[in-house]
Amino acid sequence: MNFTNEKPFIAGNWKMFKTVSESVDMVKKLREAASALEEAQLVVIPPFTALNEVSQALQGSSVKIGAQNMHWEEQGAFTGEVAAPMLIDVGCRFVVIGHSERRQIFGETDETVNKKIKTALIHGLIPIMCIGESLEEREKGDTIAKVQRQMTEGLDGLDTGQVRQIVIAYEPIWAIGTGLTATPDQAQEVHRFIRSNLAEKHGNNMASCAIILYGGSVKPENTYSLLKENDINGALVGGASLKAESFADIAKEAIKAYEEK
Ligand code: PEP
Repeated sequence: MNFTNEKPFIAGNWKMFKTVSESVDMVKKLREAASALEEAQLVVIPPFTALNEVSQALQGSSVKIGAQNMHWEEQGAFTGEVAAPMLIDVGCRFVVIGHSERRQIFGETDETVNKKIKTALIHGLIPIMCIGESLEEREKGDTIAKVQRQMTEGLDGLDTGQVRQIVIAYEPIWAIGTGLTATPDQAQEVHRFIRSNLAEKHGNNMASCAIILYGGSVKPENTYSLLKENDINGALVGGASLKAESFADIAKEAIKAYEEK
């Protein structure tokens, strides 16, 4: 993958927001801001309907595009689904797999996450695999066990070369869209575990290069303290990625944190 954890990686998940024209307006503004944000790797993740136009609007820019989901089959009678080759066709480099909203509302499992990751990799898409615990699991002290299980099952059967192509996003479910953010210590503890789990299975070299994002109510005000943590390489941002200014401000804070790490 041409992406690195030597620069912060900031991805904006727009969820089910923005028409095509709203999306294009947003990325035109972001494109201008991005020229001063070269020290960050930026990815926008619009709804499917806007991918093509967003991709045109970002031609020649360093901002990359991702999709919010995909099916594990390459084509077929799967009404309402979108396949990996279709995402490549409209200019996607990334695809979010196993977002907690997909798991909770649409019944996705670690098994379907694993199948999707395998298909994404075959087609050259970089999966952003989301993992994280619920509030109940955190309160029971099950956070690490949950994350470990999601990693083991989600990455089942993948070799080191394949795992190297994956971005992992730790997103505690209780922090998504709630305004509650994990403290830098809470987030770092889980990120450290994720990296050590990768090291155990795929070696220190692979683990030290892994891009591990934090997601859950990230905004400009909390980005610096989260990104200063050793094992936090960037952010997967929902609500605060919907405006070009706040997304760009998050990138600025991330760059500052990286410079001072
Ligand atoms: C997300 O959608 O992955 C997310 C983290 O959302 P928010 O930033 O709004 O909590």
